[in-house]
Amino acid sequence: MLVAVLSGFLVAQIASLVTTIYLHRGAAHRAVTYHPALAFLMDLVLWLTTGIRRDEWVAVHLKHHAHPDEEGDPHSPILLGLWAVQLGNYFLYRKAIREPGTMDYAKHIKLSWAERHVFRFSFLGLAIGTAGLCIVLGFWTGLLAAFTHLLLYLFFLNNLVNGWCHARGYKNFEKVVAFNNRLIAWITVGEGLHNNHHHEPGNYSLRRSRPTGRFGEVDLGLLAIRALCALGLAEPRHSRDRTPA
Ligand SMILES: [Zn+2]
Ligand SMILES: [Zn+2]
Repeated sequence: MLVAVLSGFLVAQIASLVTTIYLHRGAAHRAVTYHPALAFLMDLVLWLTTGIRRDEWVAVHLKHHAHPDEEGDPHSPILLGLWAVQLGNYFLYRKAIREPGTMDYAKHIKLSWAERHVFRFSFLGLAIGTAGLCIVLGFWTGLLAAFTHLLLYLFFLNNLVNGWCHARGYKNFEKVVAFNNRLIAWITVGEGLHNNHHHEPGNYSLRRSRPTGRFGEVDLGLLAIRALCALGLAEPRHSRDRTPA
């Protein structure tokens, strides 16, 4: 039981890491580009652990940035209520994809051959990912680990960013929407520093140094990007982003 829950938590953290550094900071905001081999690996991880399609995620997210906490925002707790987003984020995401005009926000995304022909079958990826966990951990432990991961990823971690961080916390930048929450930042690979992100979406760093930021703003995604840059596997898109705060 403990092994299953810890494994599920670990898989959810890996999925969250790829979501933030690749889908969010890379594909959506174009703050970082990745080596094609690493990009393929991250597409594969997303397929096996989340079933998310890159263009759909980017479209819904950029629609959110175009209308933050105002009419047109796909998942605003200010408009819909905190618990509607905190518990229903996944369904709001699915609904937003079907709305006319949403996919226009992802026109810059060029899907790879694998994304167009293989990774588009979301449930196949999740089935293979779950089967992999069952092979490594044993059938029931693997199944419980997969269930724990999906519960955490789809109904808790992402929801904390779109829900809680748009309703509770502190602001470094008063004039922009959303809040920072340092505890949530720890379990969402930095995404909990959401007020910082809305202030400057094109910055691949979600933390701010003092005195702008507060003590203890930790962005584990930034550390991962810096490590990948050092290995020559990632590159900040703009030179001004090379020395993030
Ligand atoms: Zn937001
Ligand atoms: Zn964003």
